[in-house]
Amino acid sequence: MRITCPLCGPRDRREVYYYGSDDYLTLPEGQDFDAIDAHLHLRDNPAGVLRDLWYHEAGCTSWLAVTRNTVTHEVLDVALVEGAGSGILAKMKPQGDAL
Ligand SMILES: [Zn+2]
Repeated sequence: MRITCPLCGPRDRREVYYYGSDDYLTLPEGQDFDAIDAHLHLRDNPAGVLRDLWYHEAGCTSWLAVTRNTVTHEVLDVALVEGAGSGILAKMKPQGDAL
């Protein structure tokens, strides 16, 4: 699978770290722990078009919102995540050595 980073161009999937659903971008405020836990961890697993978060770990270190079809593996859209340098995404940055 190839993902076209808006900043780096087409890249092999192995350069990009899969994080999970884009639900992490809409963390509910003012909810109790159980509601936040359910929002982040209890989800459906539908077949078809999904929008997920990926981190271009071996490239520009940008957070990407990737829209793809899980049935055909077609990547439909890749967009930079606005405001990814702060907030919850800054805390979720994968640890470890990049290249
Ligand atoms: Zn990139």
